[in-house]
Amino acid sequence: MRHRQAIDPERVLVVAPTFMDAALSQSILTEAGLTCQLCADPDKLGQIVSEGVGAILLTEELLAAGQAYGLAEALRRQPAWSDIPVLLLSAAGADSSPGAYAMELFGNVTVLERPVRITNLVSALQAALRARRRQYELRDRLAELERAETSLRKQSERLRLLWEAASVLLTTERPDAMMQALFAKIAPHFQLDCYFNFILTEAGDALRLQSCIGIPEEELPKISRLEFGQAVCGTAALRRQSIVATHIQQSDDPMVQLAKNYGIRAYACSPLIIEDRLLGTLSFASRQKDRFKSEELEFLQTICHYATVAYERVRLIDRLRDADNRKNEFLATLAHELRNPLAPIRNALQIMQLTNYGGAAAEQARGIMERQLRQMVRLIDDLLDVSRISRGKLELRKERVELAAVIHSAVDMANPLIEASGHRLTLSLPGHPVYLNADSLRLAQVFSNLLNNAAKYMDQGGHIELTATCPGKEAIVKVRDTGIGIPAEALSSIFEMFMQVDRSLEKSQGGLGIGLTLVKKLVEMHNGHIEARSEGLNRGAEFIVRLPLAPALGSLDPRSSRSS
Ligand code: ADP
Repeated sequence: MRHRQAIDPERVLVVAPTFMDAALSQSILTEAGLTCQLCADPDKLGQIVSEGVGAILLTEELLAAGQAYGLAEALRRQPAWSDIPVLLLSAAGADSSPGAYAMELFGNVTVLERPVRITNLVSALQAALRARRRQYELRDRLAELERAETSLRKQSERLRLLWEAASVLLTTERPDAMMQALFAKIAPHFQLDCYFNFILTEAGDALRLQSCIGIPEEELPKISRLEFGQAVCGTAALRRQSIVATHIQQSDDPMVQLAKNYGIRAYACSPLIIEDRLLGTLSFASRQKDRFKSEELEFLQTICHYATVAYERVRLIDRLRDADNRKNEFLATLAHELRNPLAPIRNALQIMQLTNYGGAAAEQARGIMERQLRQMVRLIDDLLDVSRISRGKLELRKERVELAAVIHSAVDMANPLIEASGHRLTLSLPGHPVYLNADSLRLAQVFSNLLNNAAKYMDQGGHIELTATCPGKEAIVKVRDTGIGIPAEALSSIFEMFMQVDRSLEKSQGGLGIGLTLVKKLVEMHNGHIEARSEGLNRGAEFIVRLPLAPALGSLDPRSSRSS
């Protein structure tokens, strides 16, 4: 086989009209340590230049013969970094018309007057080659920069992909949907055709197929369970190590036969392990190539780490949800169980009152027990309501109700506490009836809760203002007090269940931190909205409830409606 000889990028192209001239120049230049390429044929000049030369030495006869166009054309086609030096031997010197013509044609031209001393010719050529070397350096630098840019570009694309993958994993909670969305994002970038996600069986003795893409439906039952050590995934799970299989279609390894049957050529499988706990495996496969590049494997490995964390997140969310459901169930049972003995106790107290049992001291004790019982009933009823709401079991009996009437019954409920605390209550109601489509008992419960809180979280002798207005298509009810106020950082969380502002800041008031949760849920069930405002500690608090008005009577179905 003939090998093409490597071209010396610093060779001097000698263009001489006669073979004798050329041969003479070559021997002189070779002796001076320069590489020469002779060319007497003007038609070949362009080709040689495009293959690469360090400098060009030519005589003015070439110009005279009108044979320079091929060379000029080749020089014009040079890349931006290249400007091949041309040395022209001319009897008339630099200011001659051949010199000017050559500069116009070739650009980077040095004219040497003939006859030229050999040492001058050699040093002029060496200077030209030095300049050319700097051009080569520039070329290499440019290539390097271009390469660096291309990796940078690739890297930022990968980072973007990782970011997108992470957001898929963080926003989806069903593991199969999560994996499918993840696969759809990354598959086109790595020529992936399949993924397989196995998770540990409940018993922890094998793997169960959680989800996959890329194999026919009828094949799924065959891989619904994999034993430890079976196929690539079972082996990766057993060894707790990633496994990469290449050139699968040419492989006799029993481990990859299953993948081979599915036409897979390259396979990468990682065990999903968190805190030493094996969750399962995740693998990606391609039918389009025999192997993944190392940076692709690195990326897929990172994706597997992400998937592990996402799985753990989903597991924790499930556990939290379970715990929350159990807590709700427990609260419901607890409230029921606590509520049951209260009715007989109340009856017994009434019997004691009726029979005037035990005289004055006993009557006083009975009074205390009755008041405490009322407080217990209120707390337990709130608890029952909240647990009904969180389980979606609270129903509203909505009908056309008049806002002022609802507010008056709320005031009646809250009055005992307001009066006992020596507070002053100012009511300001609209001058005309305002109608809502609401459950009057539940809505009265909302306002009495707000009034009770105002009374609770205020020193003796405070002022409560309840204002109801109806500026547009909604009713706005504000309950404002001059009490201990709410710190800014608590305003947003105050409606959350069991949320209570630092007890040390408050008078000990008793309560479970569920009143406002109930209020908010009830307001929302009436398609309304509630917000809390306070200028800070000891600067009072204000609760603003907005409720939609009932439709005008003409458009109203006169029957009362039930909704949950
Ligand atoms: P509870 O009163 O049983 O603690 P709530 O859900 O009714 O529960 O209220 C939650 C918390 O919000 C209270 O513990 C209290 O810290 C704060 N809060 C409610 N209403 C007021 C108010 N009018 N002024 C100051 N703080 C209030």
